[in-house]
Amino acid sequence: MQYVSTRGQADALTFDQALMTGLARDGGLYVPAEVPAIGRDEIAALESLPYEEVAFRIVSRFTGDSFSPDELRGAIDRAYRGFRHVARAPLTQLAPGHHLLELFHGPTLAFKDFAMQLIGQLFQIALERTGQRITIVGATSGDTGSAAIEAFRGLPNVDVFILYPHGRVSDVQRRQMTTPTEANVHALALDGHFDDCQARLKDLFNDHAFRDRVGLAGVNSINWGRVLAQVVYYFSAAVSLGAPHRQVDFTVPTGNFGDIFAGSVARAMGLPVGQLVVATNQNDILHRALTTGEYRVGEVAPSISPSMDIQVSSNFERALWLAYGKDAGAIRQLMDELKGGGFTISQGALQQLREIYGSGRASEAETNEMIAQVHRETGQVICPHTAVAIKVAREHRRDGVPMVSLSTAHPAKFPDAVESALGIRPALPPHMADLLNRAERVTQVENDVETLKSLVLERRTA
Ligand SMILES: *Cc1c(COP(=O)(O)O)cnc(C)c1O
Repeated sequence: MQYVSTRGQADALTFDQALMTGLARDGGLYVPAEVPAIGRDEIAALESLPYEEVAFRIVSRFTGDSFSPDELRGAIDRAYRGFRHVARAPLTQLAPGHHLLELFHGPTLAFKDFAMQLIGQLFQIALERTGQRITIVGATSGDTGSAAIEAFRGLPNVDVFILYPHGRVSDVQRRQMTTPTEANVHALALDGHFDDCQARLKDLFNDHAFRDRVGLAGVNSINWGRVLAQVVYYFSAAVSLGAPHRQVDFTVPTGNFGDIFAGSVARAMGLPVGQLVVATNQNDILHRALTTGEYRVGEVAPSISPSMDIQVSSNFERALWLAYGKDAGAIRQLMDELKGGGFTISQGALQQLREIYGSGRASEAETNEMIAQVHRETGQVICPHTAVAIKVAREHRRDGVPMVSLSTAHPAKFPDAVESALGIRPALPPHMADLLNRAERVTQVENDVETLKSLVLERRTA
């Protein structure tokens, strides 16, 4: 199994190498050279299996010789042991033919735990083998950071630095990053937006001398291991609803395009996914791009679904690579144009994208209204990101095809938004009830790569 860069100018890697590398040295993203197919019978055989077994059967097709079957099974078991629901990713029903895939039962209450817990385990196995020391630097709009810290806190051989946009994450999100006491955890509040955090992170990776000196490793959603872990729940959900004997549609609240891209991988393997619907908030660059073919970067407008407040959607590059027939030269050109503010997707590529992806957006008012409406109709309290998905999913329902909306976070992560929509303040689960009383530890940093480099060198526990 080989992984190649979307920009075609970095070495092809094995799975474990791609996992530890994150961003390719040519600035591209690693993608499997070929997606392995899964037969109808093999899909049918996944029905009623424990989540961990489904994960093993899907993930092992992508890992080549990087991990032995025993290592992989052990990693998967340890990754999901801390989840507070035995089904790991349970489905609940929202309305006739419309289901919610609950992805918030992990330790930090958002779907990021599915990927981060697994890659934390895989990193640990790989590092124990080589005795290598690494420095993980991640950028977060809120949920990735806490999930990464939770997965890597206290591990020997690893420092974890997380950049989040100062003042632009919820209190619960911030405290999940600033309250861990382990010395290898470093929360950094950057003066800027999430896109600035992502851009500085890319700057760090593109300084190859610095990258080698500190053993920089990336766990952002551009890391192929993250995408791969998320492929699993598309299978578990679709099979519960009748795949491979019927089609299933999915709607995914989307920011960096990692989660929905995982759905497209499941589809490419052979899972009968009908449409994958991209749901955006008012920061709707992806919806506009899929509607008009124009990918134009604007200003981020902070919303009540902050984990999707983004203009540059990193993983979209992977979808473009496929839509352009794996033409790395074309991707390099688009990414060059992006530096000038945007690009036009070719007609052929746009048609390819539209065969897989639908799209829609929800305004702030529509998001609020959907939180209230779901509560009226089902008694269930949902988070704002989930509300964005449900609003858009309702516009894309097809007769006879079940729709699954991904519920990406627990409502208690966004209590202010939920309270203003509903008048109900969702409580944190008991295991984190004291979060708001724990002491915080954070460093505020300017939006400058040199400052960041010195800080990383100075704070590393190595
Ligand atoms: C990260 C996140 C998203 C967006 O997922 P992408 O993979 O970046 O598209 C949506 N909802 C929540 C709660 C998130 O944390």
